[in-house]
Amino acid sequence: MGSGIAKEHINTMTERRHASGGQSTTTITMLTKAVTHIRLSETNACKLAALDELAPVYQALCQAYVTYFCTEEAPDKFHDPVFATPLSERWHRVAIQQAAGMARVWRTNRERAYQNYLEEMENYLETLATPDSDRKEPEWKEWNTPVLKQVCIQANINVVAVEVSNDSTFDYWLRISTLEKRKTIRVPVKLADYHRKVLQGKTINGSVTLNKRGDGWWLTLTYDEKIAVQTEPDAPVIGVDVGIANFLTASDGKHYGTFHGKLRERQKRRRKAKLRACLKKKGVKKLPSTSSKSGQRLTRHVRQEINRAVNSCLNEHPAAQIAYEQLSVVSMKFKARSMNAYLRASNLARIPEKIAWETAKRGMAATQVKSAYSSQECSICHYVERKNRPDQQTFCCIVCSFSTHADHNAAINLAHRKGDRELHACQDRHAIKALLTRRHEQWRKHQGWS
Ligand SMILES: [Zn+2]
Repeated sequence: MGSGIAKEHINTMTERRHASGGQSTTTITMLTKAVTHIRLSETNACKLAALDELAPVYQALCQAYVTYFCTEEAPDKFHDPVFATPLSERWHRVAIQQAAGMARVWRTNRERAYQNYLEEMENYLETLATPDSDRKEPEWKEWNTPVLKQVCIQANINVVAVEVSNDSTFDYWLRISTLEKRKTIRVPVKLADYHRKVLQGKTINGSVTLNKRGDGWWLTLTYDEKIAVQTEPDAPVIGVDVGIANFLTASDGKHYGTFHGKLRERQKRRRKAKLRACLKKKGVKKLPSTSSKSGQRLTRHVRQEINRAVNSCLNEHPAAQIAYEQLSVVSMKFKARSMNAYLRASNLARIPEKIAWETAKRGMAATQVKSAYSSQECSICHYVERKNRPDQQTFCCIVCSFSTHADHNAAINLAHRKGDRELHACQDRHAIKALLTRRHEQWRKHQGWS
């Protein structure tokens, strides 16, 4: 479990602008960008000691609220204090806010995983009818609530203020409230050249993050960037499906990125491990390097491939509005158990985040749509059935015989779901299935079938 805090995020809003012909509305995307890994200077050891003293107290309080918001009450950053602490009221509020954010993320992910479990169960029960079914009954294991392992303080201006330094020795000063009443410490911040370049001319946000790792304190600063959405409201919609065989498939049938080649690298890794074991047995002292390095290389390589796939998909559809699906790491694991190792290496489930970020950066319109049954639904007649998918790659509708690549069919469904208010209003999977079934009946009537 990570810290659960998204330092970089996207906000969308509309803005009225006065144009020559009257008023017009523009959709603005606000990208909050983070500058990480700013090391807090150690020249002031005693000052940082005050921060060291505060950290465990803060963390314990934050942990108490995380558990509270995960198990007892809905996450609420304005919740009244419930735990006693030596921290000031302002620090107490910061802890509540941070905990509420983390608990919200945890609850959302858990709920999504639970919905996926229900979907698996539904599939399982359907396959029970087939005699040669060898599927295992899916199991639900209740999630543990998050445990804060490292010190991470997401502070606001009430407890940590960033001041621009007037002399050239340092770039900023952090004014930090301590455990002692009305006592603040001032810690100097010196930026690296590349940090300075990134932050040039930017206004730093009031919220900062302080992380303590084994080797000291680190600071993360953020700043906002406003980008106007350029996509025309009536631009064609392109659906994007995220899959195992192809990282991305667009609703016009194009595929982007695959795992090919990485499989071979993994086999190579396995062979190397065997060789090491064999040499070791024979008493050879100098063994070939361990596999962790090539594992890291694989992870980096796949991440680059994913970035490339997302970028080329967007480059090829610059004027389109994008419809993409909500996916979680957990749901991807459910979709392909045997590929777990690759998924861990690849961060495949991060693709939707990547799409959101990249489209926002380019000023493209992008919408997340509900993905339930998007891989089983026929994009022509809306018939929903597992048997429409004879294998991972093929879609072949058993009613209207429409057939295409399975990911292509799913991408078309996602494109259709953009602006589909009826479907968007569905509360759960059952409601979506009922709606699609009704649409299929309508299609039949249209065809003159009874
Ligand atoms: Zn069909």
